[in-house]
Amino acid sequence: MKKRIETKCIQSGYSPKNGEPRQIPIIQSTTFKYDTSEDMGKLFDLEAEGYFYSRLQNPTNDMVAAKICDLEGGSAAMLTSSGQAANFYAVFNIANCGDHVISSFSIYGGTYNLFAVTMKKMGIDFTFVSPDCTEEELDSAFKPNTKAVFGETIANPALTVLDIELFARAAHKHGVPLIIDNTFATPINCRPIEWGADIVTHSTTKYMDGHASTVGGAIVDSGKFDWKKYPDKFPGLCSPDDSYHGIVYVDKFGIEKAFITKATAQLMRDFGSIQSPHNAFIINLGLESLYVRMKKHCENAQKVAEYLSKNEKVAWVKYCGLPGDKYYETAKKYLPEGSCGVVSFGIKGGRKAAELFMKNLKLFAIETHVADSRSCCLHPANATHRQMSDSDLIAAGVTPDLIRMSCGLENSDDLIEDIAQALEKVN
Ligand code: PLP
Repeated sequence: MKKRIETKCIQSGYSPKNGEPRQIPIIQSTTFKYDTSEDMGKLFDLEAEGYFYSRLQNPTNDMVAAKICDLEGGSAAMLTSSGQAANFYAVFNIANCGDHVISSFSIYGGTYNLFAVTMKKMGIDFTFVSPDCTEEELDSAFKPNTKAVFGETIANPALTVLDIELFARAAHKHGVPLIIDNTFATPINCRPIEWGADIVTHSTTKYMDGHASTVGGAIVDSGKFDWKKYPDKFPGLCSPDDSYHGIVYVDKFGIEKAFITKATAQLMRDFGSIQSPHNAFIINLGLESLYVRMKKHCENAQKVAEYLSKNEKVAWVKYCGLPGDKYYETAKKYLPEGSCGVVSFGIKGGRKAAELFMKNLKLFAIETHVADSRSCCLHPANATHRQMSDSDLIAAGVTPDLIRMSCGLENSDDLIEDIAQALEKVN
């Protein structure tokens, strides 16, 4: 039966049989028992499906991954211990030492650091491009050793909206996949695979959990990128893996499952950034209410953004749901039902005014987080980007006055009253 997205949030990933638990079981076991060594040997040879050790795979995680896979319209998915691990695995599964990757520069700071510092040390070279670049500009960033293109649907914290079709077209023209971090939009508001993305990643720590309780990540493969067309470019997927008796992932698992099977069998085996089954259970609870929560997050953010844009003490507001926002038209195409609950703005009076405003907020808590049911806010110049000078901040698109506000699920009038009373305290 074809399910609509609200139904998928509730029902996908697990269908209990007669007499089985209604809620997904937490399989809190490191290991799994087999009758014979032959049975177990088949698992180690990837000849049979099954579980042997929870550092690689766990049934609870797989049920939750299957739900996220269905929500995104993918062919295979896996959970990771964090969003950072998801982005690392998604890229490292196809890019090795000596390879090159193109990324939008408007991405989460932690991902930028992962790419520009840590993965660079591993010998992977990154070129960062503007999320607003033309197709010609993007084309010119490709090199013979380029293995992937990366971007965020709605970037954290810059709130730029990516032209996914343009990025996908350029990636495919050069024979590489487009990886999209869809954390802020969630599959409720955008399904990047429908616009040509090949791999989708998530920090499930954000809206998917939604209650600030569980760090986690996910990778979804569309199953559409034909690795077999480029065997020299993607040898990890198209040539024998000696650590599994020479199996070739694309031959054995098809283009639908090769990417996730390789990431599980090699990267999870070697790095072990697995999510605990208990955390996966918590994420599943978040997923059950994701549809209704996203509607309310977006409704509250829209009202807050509209209020801010009319307040004379506010210098500027960024929210793609506001007519006149630079990304309003792009958002109408990719995010027709809403974007996310995060609004960025600056108060007249700059850094000092931002500090004073935030000190006086009563409902919005100061936190290094977004996407919580409780409203929160952050002044990046004083927190995540503290080390940067004002001129560096401006160059990075995080101006010294920028306040990132994550609208929760409270009553929007209460949120606006809180903002109004804090703004009154700013001269
Ligand atoms: N991707 C995006 C868009 C994020 O906002 C974050 C974290 O804020 C991450 C990835 C990293 O996720 P995590 O904190 O779960 O490792």
